[in-house]
Amino acid sequence: MKNRFIVNALVLLLAFCTTGSALAQNNFWLHEGPLVLSNITVIDGLGHEPAPMRDVLIRDGRIARVAITGTLPEIPADSRTIDGAGLTVLPGLIDAHVHIANVGFKPDEFERRDIAGMDRALRAHLYAGVTRVLELGGDMDLSITLRNEIDAGQRVGPTIHTVGDTIGNLNSTTSVFELTSPETQLEIQTLLDEREAVGIDIIKLYAGITPWEARHIMTEAKKRGMRGIADFWCTNLSRTVFEVSLIDSYAHGGCREITREEAQWMRVNGKFAMLTLSAFETMGGQRAFADYPQRGFLKDPLIVDVLGKQIVEDYYDAFSMLRETFEEGENSLYNAQHFPNLQQILPDNMHNVKLLHEEGVIVGMGTDAAFPPGTWPGEAMHHELELHVQAGIPPLEAIRMATHNNAWFIGIQDEVGSVEAGKTADLLIVKGNPARNISDSRNIEYVIKGGRLIDRESLKLRN
Ligand SMILES: [Zn+2]
Repeated sequence: MKNRFIVNALVLLLAFCTTGSALAQNNFWLHEGPLVLSNITVIDGLGHEPAPMRDVLIRDGRIARVAITGTLPEIPADSRTIDGAGLTVLPGLIDAHVHIANVGFKPDEFERRDIAGMDRALRAHLYAGVTRVLELGGDMDLSITLRNEIDAGQRVGPTIHTVGDTIGNLNSTTSVFELTSPETQLEIQTLLDEREAVGIDIIKLYAGITPWEARHIMTEAKKRGMRGIADFWCTNLSRTVFEVSLIDSYAHGGCREITREEAQWMRVNGKFAMLTLSAFETMGGQRAFADYPQRGFLKDPLIVDVLGKQIVEDYYDAFSMLRETFEEGENSLYNAQHFPNLQQILPDNMHNVKLLHEEGVIVGMGTDAAFPPGTWPGEAMHHELELHVQAGIPPLEAIRMATHNNAWFIGIQDEVGSVEAGKTADLLIVKGNPARNISDSRNIEYVIKGGRLIDRESLKLRN
């Protein structure tokens, strides 16, 4: 079995030994005791109509009770009350397609593994109300370390679920970042055993392996109760590849409009869909060109408060290089050989997501942040919600995709992803009502993770 980046990973883990302990001393919480959200509107993440005038009691990390305002049976003496007038609480967002443990913010940083950058990305997710992420392929040791440090309270960030490193084919020309490449049945079994041992139960397969190779891996994975998600580039959403490879979902949409029959087949066979509209909009240059004249990213608090102005200015400075890297250059990833028409992928998948939703397929939501430059961790999820609504998805259904449906795919729907008594209190509280205007999701007043009120000021970049 080959792995290209073991040395880099070791260097980085050494870097952790110094940064991890320093971070542990910071306090990122405003309040850790019981909380009461008083007279607030509840969007439960299950698609129900918003419920106004509710009181929500949060205790011991969980939602203890959701009641009509004024009817909570008992309010602990040490609780802090948030006046929810004009505010809406919804489940913390779950981004089911991120990359933290392997990417920088510019093409030349893709393999540099800048730990400060990763830490900033984690803070950016949480600052924007993304309380959980599914890391869809990076350095496995690193993503496990980050996951464990966050779980232990030594590092601040969203709860991480990870696929570890991506399983692909190192001999393929389409290998663009680290891949683990099993070559025998024994290597497949070893690789899956290693993942099982560190608590990984979703694997990621990448373009370059054939659907038949994927089938071998998925057959072994299913014996261990693992799900499989694949990025097979333009063949994503293909029914044939679904059938041959035995995967459960693709990591993106594909390069064409699917048919109603294909969507129906996905529903009947329990397949999951995630389109990553914002990643396609970025790859196709549509968002970049719309934004470039007014340089709007520099005015967006969800980006500059946490990532800093310099990263955005570097992005604008590198604009022509980005275009070449992503579209036109000789070594471009996303050139015509693999993606015949980059600008068409967004409209095709806006069509697809509406069709998939209409046919009852369980659709989730992910952004691919921060892989395509200009897809900003945290902010991207709010933009993803907006793009789904533009595609014709009702706002409450878009919110369900970004919360409960993603929790379902990760296998944690009994734990998080909805505002219901008993669930872990991972919550986003915004001014306004995203059911009426989806962009209200950006008007963040509070983020609560594991029942603790986050001090968003402490997450801001200071320089
Ligand atoms: Zn990705």
